[in-house]
Amino acid sequence: MIHSLAYGDFRYFRMARTFLGRALYWTGVYLVDGLLVDSGPPNLARDVRRLVSELGVRQCVTTHSHEDHSGNHALLAGALRITPLAHAVAAGRLAQRDAAPQLYRRLAWGVREPVHVAALGDWLETPHHRFQVIHTPGHAPDHVALWEPRRGLFSGDLYVAPKLRYLRADEDVHAMIESLRRLIALEPVALFCQHRGQVEHGSTRLRHKLEFLLELGERIQALRGRGLDEAEIARALPGSDLFWRLWTGGDFSKRNFVTAFLRPRS
Ligand SMILES: [Zn+2]
Ligand SMILES: [Zn+2]
Repeated sequence: MIHSLAYGDFRYFRMARTFLGRALYWTGVYLVDGLLVDSGPPNLARDVRRLVSELGVRQCVTTHSHEDHSGNHALLAGALRITPLAHAVAAGRLAQRDAAPQLYRRLAWGVREPVHVAALGDWLETPHHRFQVIHTPGHAPDHVALWEPRRGLFSGDLYVAPKLRYLRADEDVHAMIESLRRLIALEPVALFCQHRGQVEHGSTRLRHKLEFLLELGERIQALRGRGLDEAEIARALPGSDLFWRLWTGGDFSKRNFVTAFLRPRS
Protein backbone atom coordinates (compact mmCIF):
# COMPACT_ATOMS: atom_id res chain seq x y z
CA MET A 1 0.00 0.00 0.00
CA ILE A 2 1.46 3.41 -0.98
CA HIS A 3 -0.04 6.85 -0.36
CA SER A 4 1.42 9.92 -2.02
CA LEU A 5 1.56 13.40 -0.45
CA ALA A 6 3.13 16.63 -1.72
CA TYR A 7 4.83 19.26 0.46
CA GLY A 8 5.69 21.89 -2.13
CA ASP A 9 8.32 20.29 -4.35
CA PHE A 10 8.97 17.51 -1.79
CA ARG A 11 6.91 14.40 -2.43
CA TYR A 12 6.34 11.84 0.30
CA PHE A 13 5.35 8.25 -0.38
CA ARG A 14 4.03 6.58 2.74
CA MET A 15 4.07 2.82 2.45
CA ALA A 16 3.29 -0.30 4.42
CA ARG A 17 2.88 -4.00 4.01
CA THR A 18 -0.72 -4.95 4.66
CA PHE A 19 -2.26 -7.94 6.37
CA LEU A 20 -6.00 -8.52 5.91
CA GLY A 21 -6.23 -5.01 4.52
CA ARG A 22 -4.50 -3.38 7.50
CA ALA A 23 -1.12 -1.65 7.38
CA LEU A 24 1.42 -3.44 9.57
CA TYR A 25 4.12 -0.79 9.86
CA TRP A 26 4.18 2.56 8.08
CA THR A 27 7.39 3.91 6.68
CA GLY A 28 8.14 6.16 3.73
CA VAL A 29 10.45 7.65 1.16
CA TYR A 30 10.78 11.17 -0.20
CA LEU A 31 11.46 12.37 -3.69
CA VAL A 32 13.03 15.79 -4.21
CA ASP A 33 14.32 16.90 -7.58
CA GLY A 34 15.07 13.34 -8.72
CA LEU A 35 16.70 12.47 -5.36
CA LEU A 36 15.08 9.56 -3.55
CA VAL A 37 15.62 9.79 0.21
CA ASP A 38 15.54 6.19 1.50
CA SER A 39 14.17 3.28 -0.46
CA GLY A 40 11.65 1.50 1.78
CA PRO A 41 11.64 -2.06 3.14
CA PRO A 42 12.59 -5.05 0.95
CA ASN A 43 9.15 -6.64 1.22
CA LEU A 44 7.69 -3.66 -0.67
CA ALA A 45 10.12 -4.09 -3.57
CA ARG A 46 7.33 -4.57 -6.12
CA ASP A 47 5.64 -1.30 -5.14
CA VAL A 48 8.95 0.56 -5.01
CA ARG A 49 9.95 -0.77 -8.43
CA ARG A 50 6.67 0.46 -9.93
CA LEU A 51 7.03 3.79 -8.15
CA VAL A 52 10.58 4.54 -9.29
CA SER A 53 9.83 3.53 -12.88
CA GLU A 54 7.39 6.47 -13.01
CA LEU A 55 9.39 9.05 -11.06
CA GLY A 56 12.62 9.86 -12.86
CA VAL A 57 14.91 9.00 -9.95
CA ARG A 58 18.47 10.14 -10.66
CA GLN A 59 20.05 9.89 -7.20
CA CYS A 60 19.32 7.89 -4.10
CA VAL A 61 20.48 8.36 -0.53
CA THR A 62 19.80 6.47 2.68
CA THR A 63 19.45 8.13 6.08
CA HIS A 64 20.72 4.95 7.80
CA SER A 65 21.25 1.27 7.18
CA HIS A 66 18.09 -0.13 8.82
CA GLU A 67 16.29 -2.21 6.22
CA ASP A 68 13.04 -0.25 6.34
CA HIS A 69 15.12 2.66 4.96
CA SER A 70 17.74 0.99 2.78
CA GLY A 71 15.86 -2.13 1.74
CA ASN A 72 15.54 -1.45 -1.98
CA HIS A 73 18.88 0.15 -2.71
CA ALA A 74 20.09 -2.99 -4.50
CA LEU A 75 16.97 -2.92 -6.67
CA LEU A 76 17.51 0.76 -7.52
CA ALA A 77 21.18 0.24 -8.26
CA GLY A 78 20.30 -2.56 -10.70
CA ALA A 79 17.19 -1.12 -12.32
CA LEU A 80 18.34 2.51 -12.62
CA ARG A 81 22.09 1.99 -12.85
CA ILE A 82 22.80 4.44 -10.05
CA THR A 83 25.09 4.07 -7.05
CA PRO A 84 23.19 4.81 -3.86
CA LEU A 85 24.74 7.16 -1.32
CA ALA A 86 25.07 6.58 2.42
CA HIS A 87 27.32 7.59 5.30
CA ALA A 88 30.75 5.95 5.06
CA VAL A 89 29.99 3.94 8.23
CA ALA A 90 27.00 2.35 6.45
CA ALA A 91 28.97 1.21 3.41
CA GLY A 92 30.49 -1.89 5.02
CA ARG A 93 27.22 -2.91 6.60
CA LEU A 94 25.18 -2.46 3.41
CA ALA A 95 27.70 -4.39 1.32
CA GLN A 96 26.94 -7.53 3.34
CA ARG A 97 23.85 -9.60 3.85
CA ASP A 98 22.43 -9.28 7.36
CA ALA A 99 23.74 -12.37 9.16
CA ALA A 100 20.65 -13.23 11.17
CA PRO A 101 17.94 -10.57 11.26
CA GLN A 102 15.45 -11.17 14.06
CA LEU A 103 12.11 -12.76 13.19
CA TYR A 104 10.12 -9.53 13.71
CA ARG A 105 12.37 -7.73 11.20
CA ARG A 106 11.95 -10.48 8.63
CA LEU A 107 8.18 -10.36 9.08
CA ALA A 108 7.77 -6.58 9.14
CA TRP A 109 10.32 -5.58 6.51
CA GLY A 110 11.92 -8.60 4.86
CA VAL A 111 15.62 -9.18 4.23
CA ARG A 112 17.57 -6.75 2.09
CA GLU A 113 20.03 -7.65 -0.63
CA PRO A 114 23.65 -6.48 -0.26
CA VAL A 115 24.48 -3.32 -2.20
CA HIS A 116 27.54 -1.27 -3.00
CA VAL A 117 27.06 2.35 -1.93
CA ALA A 118 29.21 5.45 -2.33
CA ALA A 119 30.13 7.46 0.77
CA LEU A 120 28.36 10.79 1.24
CA GLY A 121 30.41 13.96 1.36
CA ASP A 122 29.49 17.02 3.43
CA TRP A 123 26.97 18.22 0.85
CA LEU A 124 24.44 16.63 -1.46
CA GLU A 125 23.20 18.63 -4.43
CA THR A 126 20.15 18.34 -6.66
CA PRO A 127 19.25 20.76 -9.49
CA HIS A 128 17.36 23.09 -7.10
CA HIS A 129 18.60 22.22 -3.61
CA ARG A 130 21.79 21.89 -1.64
CA PHE A 131 21.61 19.65 1.41
CA GLN A 132 24.12 19.70 4.22
CA VAL A 133 24.86 16.14 5.35
CA ILE A 134 24.94 15.95 9.15
CA HIS A 135 26.19 12.79 10.83
CA THR A 136 23.72 12.12 13.64
CA PRO A 137 24.56 8.77 15.28
CA GLY A 138 22.51 7.33 18.13
CA HIS A 139 19.54 5.58 16.55
CA ALA A 140 22.13 3.94 14.28
CA PRO A 141 25.89 4.61 14.07
CA ASP A 142 25.58 5.48 10.36
CA HIS A 143 22.58 7.81 10.68
CA VAL A 144 22.59 11.12 8.78
CA ALA A 145 20.19 14.05 8.61
CA LEU A 146 19.95 16.22 5.50
CA TRP A 147 19.55 19.95 6.05
CA GLU A 148 18.22 22.44 3.54
CA PRO A 149 17.81 25.76 5.43
CA ARG A 150 15.09 27.07 3.08
CA ARG A 151 12.97 23.93 3.33
CA GLY A 152 13.75 21.94 6.45
CA LEU A 153 15.41 18.83 7.72
CA PHE A 154 15.23 15.19 6.68
CA SER A 155 15.47 13.74 10.16
CA GLY A 156 15.58 10.00 9.33
CA ASP A 157 14.65 8.14 12.51
CA LEU A 158 16.14 10.59 14.97
CA TYR A 159 12.80 12.20 15.81
CA VAL A 160 9.92 9.80 14.96
CA ALA A 161 8.11 10.61 18.24
CA PRO A 162 8.69 13.00 21.16
CA LYS A 163 8.41 10.20 23.73
CA LEU A 164 9.47 6.62 23.32
CA ARG A 165 8.40 3.72 25.46
CA TYR A 166 11.27 1.53 24.34
CA LEU A 167 14.74 1.59 22.84
CA ARG A 168 16.34 -0.83 20.40
CA ALA A 169 19.13 -2.88 21.95
CA ASP A 170 21.73 -1.40 19.58
CA GLU A 171 20.85 2.28 20.06
CA ASP A 172 23.32 4.63 21.75
CA VAL A 173 21.27 7.04 23.82
CA HIS A 174 24.21 9.33 24.69
CA ALA A 175 25.06 9.78 21.01
CA MET A 176 21.36 10.33 20.27
CA ILE A 177 21.26 13.20 22.79
CA GLU A 178 24.29 14.85 21.20
CA SER A 179 22.77 14.43 17.73
CA LEU A 180 19.49 16.01 18.86
CA ARG A 181 21.44 18.99 20.24
CA ARG A 182 23.23 19.36 16.90
CA LEU A 183 19.94 19.44 14.99
CA ILE A 184 18.17 21.76 17.46
CA ALA A 185 20.99 24.28 16.93
CA LEU A 186 19.90 24.52 13.27
CA GLU A 187 16.42 25.66 14.41
CA PRO A 188 14.57 23.76 11.68
CA VAL A 189 10.98 24.84 11.05
CA ALA A 190 9.91 21.64 9.32
CA LEU A 191 11.06 18.08 9.85
CA PHE A 192 10.59 15.48 7.15
CA CYS A 193 10.28 12.23 9.06
CA GLN A 194 10.33 8.93 7.15
CA HIS A 195 7.61 7.44 9.34
CA ARG A 196 5.43 10.51 9.98
CA GLY A 197 5.74 12.74 6.96
CA GLN A 198 6.14 16.49 7.46
CA VAL A 199 6.23 17.58 11.10
CA GLU A 200 5.78 21.31 11.84
CA HIS A 201 7.59 23.24 14.62
CA GLY A 202 10.65 21.08 14.08
CA SER A 203 13.04 22.58 16.61
CA THR A 204 10.36 22.57 19.35
CA ARG A 205 9.58 18.92 18.63
CA LEU A 206 13.24 17.99 18.74
CA ARG A 207 13.64 19.93 22.00
CA HIS A 208 10.71 18.02 23.53
CA LYS A 209 12.38 14.78 22.60
CA LEU A 210 15.70 15.93 24.07
CA GLU A 211 14.00 17.00 27.33
CA PHE A 212 12.19 13.67 27.53
CA LEU A 213 15.47 11.76 27.18
CA LEU A 214 17.34 13.96 29.68
CA GLU A 215 14.57 13.55 32.27
CA LEU A 216 14.45 9.81 31.68
CA GLY A 217 18.22 9.59 32.11
CA GLU A 218 18.07 11.53 35.39
CA ARG A 219 15.31 9.28 36.67
CA ILE A 220 17.27 6.14 35.79
CA GLN A 221 20.41 7.49 37.48
CA ALA A 222 18.38 8.40 40.59
CA LEU A 223 16.90 4.89 40.80
CA ARG A 224 20.37 3.45 40.32
CA GLY A 225 21.57 5.70 43.17
CA ARG A 226 18.93 4.08 45.38
CA GLY A 227 20.51 0.69 44.68
CA LEU A 228 18.02 -0.76 42.16
CA ASP A 229 19.34 -3.14 39.51
CA GLU A 230 18.55 -2.75 35.78
CA ALA A 231 15.48 -4.98 35.82
CA GLU A 232 14.05 -3.19 38.86
CA ILE A 233 14.68 0.22 37.31
CA ALA A 234 12.95 -0.87 34.08
CA ARG A 235 9.91 -2.02 36.06
CA ALA A 236 9.82 1.27 37.97
CA LEU A 237 9.62 3.34 34.77
CA PRO A 238 6.11 4.36 33.69
CA GLY A 239 4.24 2.79 30.76
CA SER A 240 4.17 -0.74 29.43
CA ASP A 241 6.54 -2.07 26.78
CA LEU A 242 4.99 -5.53 26.89
CA PHE A 243 3.64 -5.56 23.33
CA TRP A 244 6.89 -4.36 21.79
CA ARG A 245 9.02 -6.62 23.97
CA LEU A 246 7.05 -9.70 22.97
CA TRP A 247 6.79 -8.80 19.28
CA THR A 248 10.51 -8.04 18.91
CA GLY A 249 11.84 -10.78 21.19
CA GLY A 250 13.23 -8.10 23.53
CA ASP A 251 14.98 -6.02 20.84
CA PHE A 252 12.68 -3.08 21.70
CA SER A 253 12.30 -2.61 25.45
CA LYS A 254 12.33 -0.18 28.38
CA ARG A 255 15.18 -2.19 29.84
CA ASN A 256 17.32 -1.16 26.86
CA PHE A 257 16.87 2.48 27.95
CA VAL A 258 18.23 1.56 31.37
CA THR A 259 21.21 -0.34 29.95
CA ALA A 260 21.95 2.45 27.46
CA PHE A 261 21.80 5.25 30.04
CA LEU A 262 23.96 3.33 32.52
CA ARG A 263 26.53 2.44 29.84
CA PRO A 264 29.58 4.73 30.00
CA ARG A 265 29.68 7.35 27.24
CA SER A 266 31.89 6.31 24.35
ZN1 LIG B 1 15.80 3.10 11.93
ZN1 LIG C 1 12.73 3.59 10.56
